[in-house]
Amino acid sequence: MKITILGCGSSFGVPSLARGWGECDPENPKNQRTRASILLHRDDTTILIDTSPELRMQLLRAGNPNIDALIYTHAHFDHMAGSNDLLDCMIAQERVLPVYLSAETNRHFKDGLNYLFQRTSGTPEFESRIVIPYKAFSINQISILPILQYHGNTQSLGFRIGDFAYSTDVGDMDDTGFGALAGIKTWILGVPTNRPVSKHLNIDKALTWIERVKPERAYFTHMGSHMDYDALCRTLPPHVRPVFDGMDIDS
Ligand SMILES: [Zn+2]
Repeated sequence: MKITILGCGSSFGVPSLARGWGECDPENPKNQRTRASILLHRDDTTILIDTSPELRMQLLRAGNPNIDALIYTHAHFDHMAGSNDLLDCMIAQERVLPVYLSAETNRHFKDGLNYLFQRTSGTPEFESRIVIPYKAFSINQISILPILQYHGNTQSLGFRIGDFAYSTDVGDMDDTGFGALAGIKTWILGVPTNRPVSKHLNIDKALTWIERVKPERAYFTHMGSHMDYDALCRTLPPHVRPVFDGMDIDS
């Protein structure tokens, strides 16, 4: 499976409107971060996880792949705001996009974007498929296990696909969650900052989790303006690396 990092920025991106580049070197293009979305490609199937506000530009940069299915981690706007960009494809291709998401995320999604599901004529372009933590579902033979994550006063879903897992927007996880990650080889974690933070991981807590789960390699995404790419490469253990927008990872 190939994973493409469409965007690896925290909720405000880097540079952000308020903080600019912060501690990030503006000369390094790897510090320019759009909001978090990834693509998964295996065989003839392409799956999108989250629709960042910059989705249209992200997908154009990735060669405008055909999206077979969409998965949501949770209902925060920096992960959902680009959903309308996919409407263009569904109308042009006259097909329905299956959207895999929790019941709570589905409620928020439909509250804000109900028009995607209710056309005045014809069929809707988006179709919700509710997923439940720890009940695997399949998209074209690709089995995906949702993992419950605690994210401040809400919950999000991480996803395990084979020996790869994507765990962003998580501040805490219970033993069942850690058990579901046992044996993974490649792990992408959302780590916005090196500062104390409650609804997300910071670097210290992420490294503790990596020590516990022991993947062969781990990657940080969802990074904010405290997270300079080169500084992270110098200070993190060799099997833990920051990602950058447009990066491909084989798993
Ligand atoms: Zn979030």
